[in-house]
Amino acid sequence: MSSTAVPIDRALSALPPLKLFIGGRWTDSDSQEQLDVVSPATGKLLAKIPHASAADVNRAVESARKAWDGWRRTPPFVRAAACHRIADRILARKEEIAAIISAEQGKPYLAEALPEVEESAENFRIAAEDVKRLESPIIPARDPNKRLFTFKVAIGTWGIITPWNFPTVIPSEYFGPGIAAGNTIVFKPAEQTPLAAFLMTQCIAEADLPPGVFNLVSGDGPSTGDALVTHPGIDGIGLTGETTTGDTIQRRAGVKKLLMELGGNGPQIVLEDADLVRAAKAAAFGAYFNAGQVCCATERVLVDRRVHKDFLDLVIEEAKSVYVGDPFMPEVKMGPMNNAPVLEKTERHLADALRKGARVVFGGKRVAGQPTNLFFEPTVVDNVSPDTLLNKEETFGPVVPVITIENYEQAIELANGTGYGLQMAVFTQDIDKAFYFADRLRSGNVVINDTTDYWEAHEPFGGGGGTRSGYGRLGGRFTFDDMTHLKTVALHTNNL
Ligand code: NDP
Repeated sequence: MSSTAVPIDRALSALPPLKLFIGGRWTDSDSQEQLDVVSPATGKLLAKIPHASAADVNRAVESARKAWDGWRRTPPFVRAAACHRIADRILARKEEIAAIISAEQGKPYLAEALPEVEESAENFRIAAEDVKRLESPIIPARDPNKRLFTFKVAIGTWGIITPWNFPTVIPSEYFGPGIAAGNTIVFKPAEQTPLAAFLMTQCIAEADLPPGVFNLVSGDGPSTGDALVTHPGIDGIGLTGETTTGDTIQRRAGVKKLLMELGGNGPQIVLEDADLVRAAKAAAFGAYFNAGQVCCATERVLVDRRVHKDFLDLVIEEAKSVYVGDPFMPEVKMGPMNNAPVLEKTERHLADALRKGARVVFGGKRVAGQPTNLFFEPTVVDNVSPDTLLNKEETFGPVVPVITIENYEQAIELANGTGYGLQMAVFTQDIDKAFYFADRLRSGNVVINDTTDYWEAHEPFGGGGGTRSGYGRLGGRFTFDDMTHLKTVALHTNNL
């Protein structure tokens, strides 16, 4: 990993033309409207991007549909090679892409942006390998003259809509398996972080895919995103975003295949026998990584009363060691929050908790003396009651809210009680307790003795059934289950 960031001016000058990418070409938008991209770290205008119209979206969808039949019939080994070429291009430009991510998103360049770009490339590599082993069963037939085969086949043309917290890794979770499986894609990145998406699109363009397999339309959610969601030519929609956005899209989409990765409210449960040093480090990492703006962030810590005081002291020490500032400085562990609404939500949730008896024991306010007012202190709040927004809702800010628990059943009830169920963590040294909690927690993912912010690129990740965190799985070969469908072919054979 290189130790110095590419100067942001150099990264900006390396951007492709900021136009839409449709049918294999950079093309002007019909609308002529533009959106500003502003750095949360400096407040400076980084660039202006096209605000794609419904007509632009229509062109992109038509080009993706036209490309689909040829692409799905291209041998999987050829599609796999294309994914490897994309990964090569991303890695060749990783410093530029990471610099753009830090500038437009705000995350630390060395600690977070570079690893994000590397993981994005890895997602294409994993898909390239997995598609070569995309097996499906041959099943027994009741009719002695029949043979029943199944095939995993591409669904068609996908609209992929992604958030601003991971500008390249989340899109790549869809693109790798989507493209490898023979789907075609129209991509709408988040309006706050589209520049890394333009760079990634250029990497895809340089990998020589047939025109129309991949298309980029930049714009906002309610207009450009909605035009994509409601377009009759879209067969599948992949959304990573807020639960409320998932609700809207589900209603607007009609009968389309949906893959929804939505919000979380990750509890970390600390039992009386936990390794408290490890638990405190995990809680701080889970709450402060990407300034808490992660779907599986540690949103609340449920601590057994018997170890509450020791845990609190340790987590405060961890918070003290988080250096906040310019995301391009190597020693910085936390940059600015991405935008004013997410920061104001954090403040609203804190104020609500304080009104209900909570106590800020570290941090709790914006950092003075920074170029913008989007920097927030790493914060620890104690004595948080279950009826607070900090407990009930996704905060998405750098806060460790500590809630004291009296017994295991209360911990399980609180953990499961918010309707979210993306990733939960439990700290205990007792394997029986660990598996008891893993079984009882209503969550897509459970981590034992590590942060809620733990994941690996190839593991199945997504919301638990019946929760507000979405459905379907992103991660490795498991994404193929959602981005393909199983086609059954029944063959009649004559007896000789
Ligand atoms: P949003 O839901 O606000 O936005 C996500 C994307 O949806 C953006 O591209 C947005 O466009 C678009 N969008 C918004 N409204 C519509 C609409 N009506 N029609 C079509 N598209 C629309 O989420 P954030 O960007 O604020 O991201 C944070 C959220 O994402 C958190 O809740 C977080 O938990 C969740 N998330 C979930 C993950 C998971 O794996 N489960 C992973 C990462 C994040 P625009 O912003 O440009 O207007």
